[in-house]
Amino acid sequence: MILVKTKYFMRYLPIHIDMKDQLLLVIGGGAAAEAKLRTLVKTEAHIRLVSEQISKQIQKWANEGRIEWVARDYKKRDFKGARLVYAASEDDARNAKIAKQARKRGLFVNAADQKQACNFITPALVDRAPVAISIGSEGTSPGLARAIKADLESRLPASLGALALKVNELRKMVKTIMPSLVDRQRFWADILSGRDLTHQIRLSPDEMEQRVLQKLSGYKDGRKGFVALVGAGPGNPDLLTFAARQRLHAADVIVYDRLVSKEVLDLGRREAEYIYVGKEPGGKCVPQSRINEILLEQAARGRFIVRLKSGDPLIFGRADEETDVLQAHNIGFEIIPGITAAAAAAANIGVSLTARGKNKAFSIITGHDSKGYAEHDWAAMARNDDRFAVYMGVGASPLIQSRLIDSGMNANIAVTIVENASRPNEYVVETTLGQLGHIIKTTPIKGPAVLLIGYAVKAANRGHHDSMKEAAQ
Ligand code: SAH
Repeated sequence: MILVKTKYFMRYLPIHIDMKDQLLLVIGGGAAAEAKLRTLVKTEAHIRLVSEQISKQIQKWANEGRIEWVARDYKKRDFKGARLVYAASEDDARNAKIAKQARKRGLFVNAADQKQACNFITPALVDRAPVAISIGSEGTSPGLARAIKADLESRLPASLGALALKVNELRKMVKTIMPSLVDRQRFWADILSGRDLTHQIRLSPDEMEQRVLQKLSGYKDGRKGFVALVGAGPGNPDLLTFAARQRLHAADVIVYDRLVSKEVLDLGRREAEYIYVGKEPGGKCVPQSRINEILLEQAARGRFIVRLKSGDPLIFGRADEETDVLQAHNIGFEIIPGITAAAAAAANIGVSLTARGKNKAFSIITGHDSKGYAEHDWAAMARNDDRFAVYMGVGASPLIQSRLIDSGMNANIAVTIVENASRPNEYVVETTLGQLGHIIKTTPIKGPAVLLIGYAVKAANRGHHDSMKEAAQ
């Protein structure tokens, strides 16, 4: 994982200034002034231009009443009452002088093509008023800013401004029906978010209205909570599905397990409520019956609940117990799969879980069940030379070792233990079935770990782990 630390502080603060009826002074009447005015005339500012001569285009704006032209050379008293000043004559030295005079009076001034004389700069602009995107590089790379502008210009439809105005109109209606701010935020997130932002923003104002009305009618028909059982994967947020991210963004409440990583939780909304229902191994735990109750209570409040489980929710996740209760209470739910620990562990050590000519089946077993260490059909597993992943198996590993060897499995077969798979502190231990119990006793394994029985680390992947460990230190 590469963390890029930005040490660069912004020298320029991007803000949008209310210029309605404010005096904006432009000094100059040639090409430089005209270039600045192209943006300025789009605002509601009162533009006063002082110059003996003006270009044809500026004359046109004056005729249209967009600017007030004062046909003479500027005087210091012109600064009086101005909010912003543009020194945009055709003479650089003169512009620098004007800028100095204006700054002395505490004014915001921009001098054409002379960054050091300016105390504000005008960004490159993508104009879809009232939507405006300003792009600046603090003068470091105007070409890059222009390229970003060109890219956005080609992607944002001309109708975006109309869409924003429509949304503003609809917001009032939505507010009367939905008094809660959190509900409204979620409503708009549902309307506007999606796989493809460029699709959402291409809606015509009418289509947007249709969508909003349709969704509002569903809302009025009785609000019921909804539960998404979401697989959080093995911990690294890069391994989340797109659907999981989306549900996290939309959740009112996130009910999460012990093994869900902080990095994944950080993707939830700040306003969401977070409820921890972790089960510590051999320690404190929130009983499943209480978790079920929490889901029902939250659903009764009409909330969108994300039930976040590590890995895949359908593998040792007790998902059925929760979905049975939801079904019995007629509460809608969906399941978003996640990357299970064995898949992440195998990927990181570079081995195939099933391999032609080696194993036709692969099983995932648990080292622990409700009664303690779990028993399995060890004889069958040993006989078939099966390969499998053991979850919750660290404590049970001496038992697993003796059961398999007693059933005739070769003590030399490879066993790989992957702790904290996919996380920065991932740790891999390579051993054999015969050594497993001893290794577990002598190696401190505190994090979640999978035992991959019958799997050896692919040589090419060894360096990968060393570098991961170094990165984590
Ligand atoms: N639903 C989860 C499994 C939950 S059971 C999944 O599909 O992955 C908890 C067990 O999962 C842990 O005891 C450990 O064996 C395994 N596990 C979960 N996250 C892991 C990780 N990042 N690295 C290694 N094992 C992990």
